[in-house]
Amino acid sequence: MDAKTLQTPIEYLKGVGPNRADLLKTELQIHNFQDLLQFFPFRYIDKSRFYKISELQDNSAEVQIIGKISGIRTLPMKRGKRLVADFEDDTGSIELVWFRGHKWILENLKTNAPYVIFGKLNNFNGSFSMPHPEIEELEKAKTKSDVKMHPVYPSTEKLSKRGISNRMISTLMFGLLEQSGNFSETLLSSIIADLKLMTKTEAMRNIHFPQSSELLAKAQFRLKFEEFFYIQLQLLRKNAVHKSKIKGFRFKQVGEYFNAFYNTVLPFELTGAQKRVLREIRKDLGSNAQMNRLLQGDVGSGKTIVALMSMLIAIDNGFQACLMAPTEILASQHYEGISELCEPLGVQVEILTGSTKKKDRKVLHERLQNGELHILIGTHALIEDTVKFKNLGLAVIDEQHRFGVAQRAKLWKKNTLPPHVLVMTATPIPRTLAMSLYGDLDISVIDELPPGRKPIKTVHRFDSNRLKVFKFIKDEIHKGRQVYIVYPLIEESANFDYKDLMDGYASIEREFPKPKYQISIVHGKMKPEDKAFEMERFVKGKTQIMVATTVIEVGVNVPNASLMIIESAERFGLSQLHQLRGRVGRGAEQSYCVLITGKKLSSDGKTRMETLTGTNDGFEIAEVDLKLRGPGNLMGTQQSGVLELKIADLVKDNQILKIARSYAHHVINADPNFKLEEHHMINVAFRALFNDKTIWNYIS
Ligand code: ADP
Ligand code: MG
Repeated sequence: MDAKTLQTPIEYLKGVGPNRADLLKTELQIHNFQDLLQFFPFRYIDKSRFYKISELQDNSAEVQIIGKISGIRTLPMKRGKRLVADFEDDTGSIELVWFRGHKWILENLKTNAPYVIFGKLNNFNGSFSMPHPEIEELEKAKTKSDVKMHPVYPSTEKLSKRGISNRMISTLMFGLLEQSGNFSETLLSSIIADLKLMTKTEAMRNIHFPQSSELLAKAQFRLKFEEFFYIQLQLLRKNAVHKSKIKGFRFKQVGEYFNAFYNTVLPFELTGAQKRVLREIRKDLGSNAQMNRLLQGDVGSGKTIVALMSMLIAIDNGFQACLMAPTEILASQHYEGISELCEPLGVQVEILTGSTKKKDRKVLHERLQNGELHILIGTHALIEDTVKFKNLGLAVIDEQHRFGVAQRAKLWKKNTLPPHVLVMTATPIPRTLAMSLYGDLDISVIDELPPGRKPIKTVHRFDSNRLKVFKFIKDEIHKGRQVYIVYPLIEESANFDYKDLMDGYASIEREFPKPKYQISIVHGKMKPEDKAFEMERFVKGKTQIMVATTVIEVGVNVPNASLMIIESAERFGLSQLHQLRGRVGRGAEQSYCVLITGKKLSSDGKTRMETLTGTNDGFEIAEVDLKLRGPGNLMGTQQSGVLELKIADLVKDNQILKIARSYAHHVINADPNFKLEEHHMINVAFRALFNDKTIWNYIS
């Protein structure tokens, strides 16, 4: 079947007609032949093998068994009766159960005659039973066709009510495959040979009507590979187009500012990973394509210094730089840290947030436009249209998941050519996922912590043990340390959550009375200046306890704080808990994190607590998070259409993804526009899959 015939509207398929077509369209988004063919079964009924009773597993799978009935009896129930037969083979026995149709069974089933039964197993107190099995005499079953695995398609309630059953979909599919003949091949013969893949035609047939479980596995591999391959081609091509079309400012030199900083100001030796990433960035900035780079690094890995040194390169080349942070607190911390480091260099740094006063803004705007200001740090306020730079060359975005694509796009318009963009995130996305999501960005990873850090010790306590936790807090404070106590605030507007926070605060106040103890509180409902004031007191060590919501989640840096208490920890996601924990462990002292939860925990909740108490490695945590929640719920992934996969699974199939990506790389490197004769087939398939517009949506 060729590409054109595949587009035939579904109502033209034999057995469909207008009414069913409507249902298929609205319920399953099947509009044409192609859509139907790509409507894949989500499981198969496997009649390709027979099980021995001793092999049965407690997994509610559907199984097929040969054996005989040794006895039948009727048992009373609360209402009515049930019929139970003992079914045995030479390894054991199970019960077959019927709740209706007793008469027919009693009349027709013979004891001690060989039967084949098929159905779903139940396990009750260690013994297996099969309700309403399909049952057939062994002799008859032997004569049946050789199609052994039957597809089961996803369905909806409405479809089953309106009589579009699984059997009907299978019949339609079977008919369509019959009339399809061979499918045009969509993968290069070299790849097929290399990986010993099935042809497209074989794969399409076996994915719907597998001849055996081995052939099904081959069909699945081939189709998953193909799906990943074309997505990777698209992403890599975007990247290639980007590099050739999007010109950027070329920063030719590393000059005075950078060198002076490196030689005289930098207070420590850079880690190997920081150096490597800086080299990657320098290379981008020195080419004449615009940089679009994602910098991943666990909390505390030292991304800020890398950002600052990149900004100094911009300044060395006569450009300005900006750094955008998701919260005011974070912006002011960056501002303080960076202006201190820049002071000796004479680099001019300013801060702009929602609460910057009007008259200050005016001065700031002037200095920005006449080029006096080198670095502007701030929140979203930075991207407002009123903020105009003389010559913005580099924009750094911290904690990328808080910013949307639209906001990034606004930044691009701040100069005649788009400034280079460095996006930093401490929420590591597993590499394989990052590849799919950000195939169009280049990725750098800081995978090494600065030396001398002591790993944070994490424990999980039930809230019934709170008194012991309070005692521990006191001990730490008496050693001169500071403590965070964090409450969940899922939505900043939920009064319910504020009540938790305020109740918690009141009880902390009772337990830690003034003047011996001083407590700060910070939450989203406070005015920015009040927040800043409280933060400041904590940073300066005037208060020992910081009671807060997750507003302190990102970036805040108080090295003397060595204890993080997280209340109702079961209400936070893994990444968020890891982020929160990252607020401690920044100084020379041993740090601790205590996760407090209620006694009742879901199994997910348990896994989260175990993961956190078991590891400090953000990438490992991200992998678990991905498995628990699926890729669609991870921070930063929501806007990506890449996740709507038809057959492959980003988590389970990530080995296939890696292979597909490396083949896609090969093709793109050799021939980014699929112009070569040998890539004609890719060109055709690619165009059918993606329309080029998506690339331009992204760029403008
Ligand atoms: P994050 O990656 O979470 O943003 P920061 O940039 O805030 O981490 O760095 C965390 C702390 O580590 C800061 O106090 C910073 O000065 C310090 N730091 C960064 N790089 C190094 C290094 N190479 N050696 C020692 N300390 C470092
Ligand atoms: Mg940071």
